[in-house]
Amino acid sequence: MNADGYYGSFGGTFIPEILYPAISELKEHFEQIKSDADFWNRYYEILRNFSGRPTPLTYAEGLTDHFGSARIYIKREDLNHSGAHKINNALGQALLAKRMKKTRVIAETGAGQHGVATAIVAAKLGLEATIYMGREDMERQYANVFWMKRFGAQVVPVDFGSRTLKDAINEALRDWVSSFETTHYLMGTASGPHPFPALVAYFQSIIGKEAKEQLLELEGKLPSRVYACVGGGSNALGVFQEFMVYPEVELVGVEAGGRGPELGAHASRIAYGQAKVGIAQGFKTLFLQNDEGQMLDTYSVAAGLDYTGISPILANLSELRRVRVEAATDDEVIAALQLVMTKEGLVPALESTHAFAGAFREISSTSTKDCIIINMSGRGDKDIFNIAEGLKDDEWTAFIGRKQQQYERAR
Ligand SMILES: *Cc1c(COP(=O)(O)O)cnc(C)c1O
Repeated sequence: MNADGYYGSFGGTFIPEILYPAISELKEHFEQIKSDADFWNRYYEILRNFSGRPTPLTYAEGLTDHFGSARIYIKREDLNHSGAHKINNALGQALLAKRMKKTRVIAETGAGQHGVATAIVAAKLGLEATIYMGREDMERQYANVFWMKRFGAQVVPVDFGSRTLKDAINEALRDWVSSFETTHYLMGTASGPHPFPALVAYFQSIIGKEAKEQLLELEGKLPSRVYACVGGGSNALGVFQEFMVYPEVELVGVEAGGRGPELGAHASRIAYGQAKVGIAQGFKTLFLQNDEGQMLDTYSVAAGLDYTGISPILANLSELRRVRVEAATDDEVIAALQLVMTKEGLVPALESTHAFAGAFREISSTSTKDCIIINMSGRGDKDIFNIAEGLKDDEWTAFIGRKQQQYERAR
C-alpha cells in the first residue's frame, strides 16, 4: 500500500471533503494502535472472554478419508459469538471508536450479519448504534432485523435506489457527514475508502495468525493451500495475510458463481472476468457495472457474498497473482454443504460453503502429504430457509405452510 491508500491501482479515498477530518482522525488512531500493545491485548482479551477465541482448527477426518488427498483442516470462525468472523472486526472498530471518544457507531448491512455484529458490540461496550439497511434486504433477512432491534440498535430502512446494500452504504455515509464528531462509521468489510480496507484486514488478521500457529503445532508445517470465500474480502484477507510471505502457500479465494457466468446471475467480480475498474462507495476497485458505470444486480444463494465490488487489497493481490480467485456455483455449494454435514457434523454458512466447494473441486491435485486449510467464516443455522430451498426439501416447505396456517388462525 502507498501513502494514499492505493494497492497497485486500486483503493484510494473518494469521499466528500467534509469527511477529511474524520478520515484523518481515523488514520491517526489506526497508526497509533498498530504499535500499542495494550490496545491489542485489550482487544484480544475481550475476544477471548466474550467471543470465545481462539477458535479451533479442526482436523476434518471424514472429509480427508472421503477424498484421499490432502489432510483437510477447518478454521472454525463459526464458533465466534454471533456465529461468524464479523465480530473480530466489529469489536476492534468499536474499541477504536471508544479510543476516539465517540459515543455512537453507524453501519451499513446487506444480509444483516454485520448489522447484528455491530449491534452486539455496541450493546457490550455501551455505544449507541444506528444500522442502515435497504428495505428490500430487510424483507429478505427479517430475522437479523429482529435481533438488531432486540440488542438495542436503531434499524433505519433505506427506500432509495434498489433498496439494497449499496443504497444503505450511501445513506450511512450521508449520516456520517453530519455526525462524525460523535460517531464512528463501522465499516463491515475490507472495502470502502482508505483506511477502512487496511483497518478491517488488520482486525481480521487474527484468523490467520491463530491458524498458522495451530497448524504448526498439529502438523509441524505450513498448509499448501488456504481457501476462503470472498464477498467484500474480509474473512479471506483475515486468513490469507499471515501466509502471504510464504510463496509455497497458495491462497485461493472463492466467489459466488450463483447460477453461472451469465451477467446478473452471479456475484463474481474476478473469476468470471466481468467486472470493470470503477470508483464508487468511496474507493476504486473492480465493480460489476454496465458501460455507463451503473452497478449491476448480483445474485447468490449466499446473501453475504452478494456484493458488486471487492476489496481493493484482493483486487491487487489477484492482479499480482498472489491470490487465485475462483467461483463456485449454487449447485456446487449445496452439494458441498451436504458432504460437510454428513462427513463432519458441521453446518457452514452458505457463504463459507463456497470455500469448501472450491477446495473439493481441485483437491485431487494435492497429495496425502499436503495439508490445506479451509476458513469456515460462519455457521449455517441462519440459512435454514435457503438451504431447505436449495435441497428442495418438501417436508420443510409443508412445515412452513402449516406454521403459516396456525399463525393465520391465531389472528
Ligand atoms: C459477511 C460474511 C461473508 C462475506 O464477507 P467477507 O467480508 O468477504 O468475509 C462471508 N461469510 C460469512 C459467514 C459472512 O457473514
